[in-house]
Amino acid sequence: MKMRYHSTRGGADRISAAEAIAKGLSADGGLYVPETLPRLTGDAIAELLKMSYSERAAYIISLFLEGFSNQELSGYAGNAYGCGTFSSESAAPLHQLDANTHFLELWHGPTCAFKDMALQIMPYLLSASLKKTNEKREACILVATSGDTGKAALEGFRGVAGTRIMVFYPKDGVSEVQKLQMVTQEGDNVSVMAVEGNFDDAQAGVKALFSDDALSAELSSGGFFLSSANSINWGRLVPQIAYYVSAYCDLLNSGSIPPDGKINFCVPTGNFGNILSAWYAERMGIPVNKFICASNRNDVLTQFFSTGAYDRNRPFYTTISPSMDILVSSNLERLLFEISGKDSGAVSAYMTALSAVGRYEVSGVVKDELDRVFTGSCCSEEETMLTIADTFTDSSYLIDTHTAVAYKALQKYRIISGDDTPSVVVSTASPFKFCESVLNALGHDAAEAGAELIDTLSSVTGTPVPAPLRGIGRSEPRFTESVPVHGMKNAVRAFLNN
Ligand SMILES: *Cc1c(COP(=O)(O)O)cnc(C)c1O
Repeated sequence: MKMRYHSTRGGADRISAAEAIAKGLSADGGLYVPETLPRLTGDAIAELLKMSYSERAAYIISLFLEGFSNQELSGYAGNAYGCGTFSSESAAPLHQLDANTHFLELWHGPTCAFKDMALQIMPYLLSASLKKTNEKREACILVATSGDTGKAALEGFRGVAGTRIMVFYPKDGVSEVQKLQMVTQEGDNVSVMAVEGNFDDAQAGVKALFSDDALSAELSSGGFFLSSANSINWGRLVPQIAYYVSAYCDLLNSGSIPPDGKINFCVPTGNFGNILSAWYAERMGIPVNKFICASNRNDVLTQFFSTGAYDRNRPFYTTISPSMDILVSSNLERLLFEISGKDSGAVSAYMTALSAVGRYEVSGVVKDELDRVFTGSCCSEEETMLTIADTFTDSSYLIDTHTAVAYKALQKYRIISGDDTPSVVVSTASPFKFCESVLNALGHDAAEAGAELIDTLSSVTGTPVPAPLRGIGRSEPRFTESVPVHGMKNAVRAFLNN
C-alpha cells in the first residue's frame, strides 16, 4: 500500500509523508491528510498490548509514515518517550478516579503540558523529512506562543541537527511559570524574545515574517528557511494518535473494559488537534462510543456541535484555561473533510465563508454524521473552579484548569445523556503550570508571586512538584531582551547570524 497525502481543499498533488511534514501547509491553503487510513487488526492490538509506550508510538507512527524505517522511528520514539524524558514509567499513564472514569495524564514530559507528546518527537520527524526531501538549508522554526507551545517546542527542538528555533512571547501575556520556563531555556540552537504587545501582536508579527519574500530570499542565501511547529502540521498530529491507542490497550490490560468494550473520550479542546487525533484512533479500529468536545466560556465548538453552524462572531473571553481560549479551531477542517466523504468542494466553501463572514453551516448529512460520534459540552469559570475543589476534596486528585473543564463537561454530558460508557478524560497540563488559579479554586488566597506559588501549591495539597518545575525560580534567566513588533525581523536576523 502506498500512503500518500493530499489537501483538504482539493489540490491535485499527492505527496509523501516526508513532503507533507516538510511543507506543513498545502499551497491551496488546505491541510494535509492521509489518502487512506490504516486499520488495526486484532493481531496488531494483541501485539500492542505487550508493548511499552515508546514501542506503541513507533508502531502507530510507522503505519502513517511510509518512507521512514522501523529502526528510525523506534530510535526517535525511544529518545522522545524513554531515556528519562518523561517522569512516569509510561509517557501517558492512566489514573483511575472511579469505576467508570479514568484520566489520561499527558503532562509528565519536560514542560508539563500535553504539547510535549507531539513536540518531543516531531523535531526528529521534521529533520528526517528535510533530509528525505533533499532540503539542504537549515530550518528556522518561528513560534508565537501564548504559553504552552513555546516551551514545548523549545524543549523538542533544542539540539536537533539542521534546526534552529526562536520563540516570541507577549511580554505581559503569559503566566509567571510559563515565562520562567522559557527564559531559562537551555540549548545552543534556541532563542527566546519578549514582544512588546499582546499575543495577537506577536502572532501577527510572526505571520508577517513568514510572508516576507525579501526576508526569505535573504535567509535562503544564508542557508536558512522559515518553518513552523504548530498543529496544522501532520507531524504534530500523528504522534498524538498513539496515546489514544495506548490508553485503550492499558484499559484492556487492567481489565477495566471487556474485549471490544467501547469507551468515551472527553477532550479539553482549543485548536481541535488533540480530539482529532482521538477520532483518527477510532477510524483505525479503537472502539469509541462518543467523543465529548469540552470547551470553556469560549464555547464556539459546543454551539457548532449542537446547531451545525460555526460562528466566530462572538466575544472572546480570557479564562483560567487559556490554552482553550480560541475562536477558530483550525483542525476542524480535517474532520469536516473526512466526515463529508472527502468533499473538498464543500470544505473549501465552508472555509471561504469562515474567512469572509466568520460563519458557515454544514449540510444535514454532515451534521447527522457528527451527531453520531461527537457531542459538545462546556462549562463556566465557576464550574471549573468548583470541579478542581470537588475532585481534590472527594478523591485527593489534583487537576489543572483545562482538565477540570473536561471533567465537568463529561459530568454534564452524563446527566443529559444517561450514557454510562467507561470514559477517559484527557488531562492536558500539570496543575503546577496554573498554580495561581488552582490555589484560588482550593480557596487559598495566593499572596506569593511567581515561582513561590509552586511550593505553596505543593504544601497546601501535599502533591510533589513535577521535576521540571522544581527550583525554576532559582535558575538564572538567559533571555532577557524584548523587542517591539517591528523589531522582530532584526531579532531573527541577529539570531541566525550568530
Ligand atoms: C494546547 C492545549 C489544549 C488544546 O489542545 P488542542 O489540540 O489545541 O485542541 C488544551 N489544554 C492544554 C493545557 C493545552 O496546552
